Amino acid sequence: MSTPYPLGLMLAGRRVLVVGGGQVASRRVPALLDAGADVVLVSPRITPSLRALAGDGRLTWHERVFVASDADDAWLVHAALDDRAAAEQVSAAAEARRIFCVRADDREAATAWTPAIARQPPVTVAVLAGGDPRRSMAVRDRIAAGLAGGDLGPIDTETLAGSVALVGAGPGDPELITVRGRRLLAAAGVVVVDRLAPGLLLDELAPDVEVVDASKIPYGQQATQDEINRILVDRARAGRFVVRLKGGDPYVFGRGGEEVLACAEAGVPVLVVPGVTSAIAAPAAAGVPVTHRGVAHEFVVVSGHVPPDSAASLVDWPALGRLRGTLCVLMGLSNLAAIVGTLLAHGRAPGTPAAVIENGATPRQRVVRAPLAELVEAVKTAQLRTPAMIVIGEVAGVLPATIGLVNRADELA
Ligand code: SAH
Repeated sequence: MSTPYPLGLMLAGRRVLVVGGGQVASRRVPALLDAGADVVLVSPRITPSLRALAGDGRLTWHERVFVASDADDAWLVHAALDDRAAAEQVSAAAEARRIFCVRADDREAATAWTPAIARQPPVTVAVLAGGDPRRSMAVRDRIAAGLAGGDLGPIDTETLAGSVALVGAGPGDPELITVRGRRLLAAAGVVVVDRLAPGLLLDELAPDVEVVDASKIPYGQQATQDEINRILVDRARAGRFVVRLKGGDPYVFGRGGEEVLACAEAGVPVLVVPGVTSAIAAPAAAGVPVTHRGVAHEFVVVSGHVPPDSAASLVDWPALGRLRGTLCVLMGLSNLAAIVGTLLAHGRAPGTPAAVIENGATPRQRVVRAPLAELVEAVKTAQLRTPAMIVIGEVAGVLPATIGLVNRADELA
């Protein structure tokens, strides 16, 4: 076997012929479309996903068997066939026209190989491991993990210098940050964190990264929002790439909007990376799906920071008392008694299942379940503390209490 010669093909607007409409074609076609190729697919039968792409006009489908002239205008041919004789025919037609041909049935006989790929825009890493796809995928996975975690070094600090990224860190488990969030974190020169951002994510930062702790501990000492905004803007103006790491999602009671505005008004480029919000993830970690077929077709997320009877409250608590669906209350622990009292007074049934989840989706998670009318007492007994969220609704009773983010079959029994 000779050594392959690696190459990046610019396929935009160029015809690529794919022969075959099965699983292999389904896996190959999206990357071809992503590269802008003019994909022509020839096959009497195709998978539903390919059919959908054809229906959307994203590729041209000829519903028949291959004929040699199909290769006439192609720059590249994929023989995505397991029938050797048919693949041989496609390969011969490509060869006669001096077109490279990838073969799913026989790599040795092919004139082009598809590598295993790791993408970390703007970088693409392609791995060819001596014709062994499993080995190339294994190598690719390690490279991809290195790129995502920053072990292979930040890759786009140049373009990010002087900007701010608001990154949702997820509810607490360091694995529940998005791929993009993690990549940007690895490229940061400055990281501004609050109390809710998972500390373990900070362990991975290079020693020269400046970490600013903007802890906004309720009722305690505060670095004011103005001060945080000032830090974001100043560091970015000094040419650093600043990641503002926020618990959950930046725009769910996270003051993300204010920080984005402050950056934009100062002329600092700013991007937002959504996160997994605790409003959904903490219930999930406690075995509560916020919707469930036939049980709840809505969920409402509110802040319980302001007492329900306060004139400053922007929440329509009487309407929430009449709600049939799921109610997720963040920042409501200290006002729990008033919240429960208001909901009961406006019609929510006393027996409605409810749960309070402290440190959801972290190793310190604690959950208290009780019918709504008994919730306050149960939480008091357990001495739950912040961060905690409250979930109220029939969904809090649909799954066994043992269910969480990781489950075994016997737990359902
Ligand atoms: N932006 C965050 C919410 C910030 S408000 C998000 O999208 O999750 C802070 C409140 O979120 C806390 O008072 C608590 O009610 C809730 N919260 C955050 N993390 C939590 C967790 N791990 N478990 C339970 N509640 C959490």
